[in-house]
Amino acid sequence: MKHKYRLNSVLDSIEEKGVDVLLVTHLPNIRYLCGFTGSAGAIVVSKEGSRLFTDGRYTEQARNEVVGCKVEIASKPPLTAAAAWLKERRRSLAGRKACYVGIEGEHLTVAERRQLSSLLPSGFQLKETSGLVERLRMVKDADEIKCMRAAGVLGASLFGTALKTIRPGVKETEVAAEMEYAARCAGAEGMSFPTIIAAGKRSALPHGRASTARIPSRGFVVCDFGVILAGYCSDRTRTVHVGPPGREAQRMYEAVREAQSAAIAAVKPGIKVGEVDHIARKLLEKSGFGKHFTHSTGHGVGLEIHEAPRVASGQTEMLIPGMVITIEPGVYVPERGGVRIEDVVVVTERGCEILSPSSTALITI
Ligand code: ZN
Ligand code: ZN
Repeated sequence: MKHKYRLNSVLDSIEEKGVDVLLVTHLPNIRYLCGFTGSAGAIVVSKEGSRLFTDGRYTEQARNEVVGCKVEIASKPPLTAAAAWLKERRRSLAGRKACYVGIEGEHLTVAERRQLSSLLPSGFQLKETSGLVERLRMVKDADEIKCMRAAGVLGASLFGTALKTIRPGVKETEVAAEMEYAARCAGAEGMSFPTIIAAGKRSALPHGRASTARIPSRGFVVCDFGVILAGYCSDRTRTVHVGPPGREAQRMYEAVREAQSAAIAAVKPGIKVGEVDHIARKLLEKSGFGKHFTHSTGHGVGLEIHEAPRVASGQTEMLIPGMVITIEPGVYVPERGGVRIEDVVVVTERGCEILSPSSTALITI
């Protein structure tokens, strides 16, 4: 049902864009449209029906997973097979006029585009499209929100493991390893991204991946982590302090905490994502940390860890119910340390719901 609906929605949007068929090659988009989770595939979406091209390794898997598309098991790579199929059907797809084939501009490589051009005879025109499937993915349905809630609960539980493991002298990678092991034991398919554990001065690196550095006896530890469950990603950050925090550290933490909760309170249908960013940014400016907030306030999350919309300055996308975004302001003072607090929220009819809420009060280890 839902896959048919999604494929039909894409069909409507490609007609608006003036293309006859859309060639979908980005794997998360393929998964979204027809349920296929294999690592090689291409979908041709057309009014004559949609077709997934994959290879012999996925015969059984495609039979079990794919909904709404006919499956073609090809002996050639999916892109080549799709091009051959299009070539045979040019007349029925576009009649006497040129057949416009939409390609995913953000995902098809230059080499693939060149290859496609050489495989398709004259009478075909490639036309770059942008975010046609991603736009649909931005608004999650009830099933997706259920998956994201489950991922959120599992993901959140890893913070308990972090608290048990973070001690002065322990390597950042050891903390990450314990969390990732716990995630897999609890059934996670994988991590949304390599776990970030950044301690002491390294906490001032917004994306400091866990290194072999040892946790110092005093300072912040930023823990940013997420799991994948049923294809959907969780994403959460908590920052703890090893040893008693000084006045400045407390002030910094509370500033980020206040900015995060004010931005979450602002999330509701009809507000632009840029305004949500502005609320967090303005508060951090007021508390004197504005210049140390060096990234955007958040991002969409779903089948991929970073999706549309970007919750960033100047972005005009309007929030609507079903959108799932992170709210993650942070402050990073070089040579001193950093703080980030992140939660995933789903936009509801009246505001938003935090997926798997938990306290953001400062924890001292
Ligand atoms: Zn994160
Ligand atoms: Zn994030």
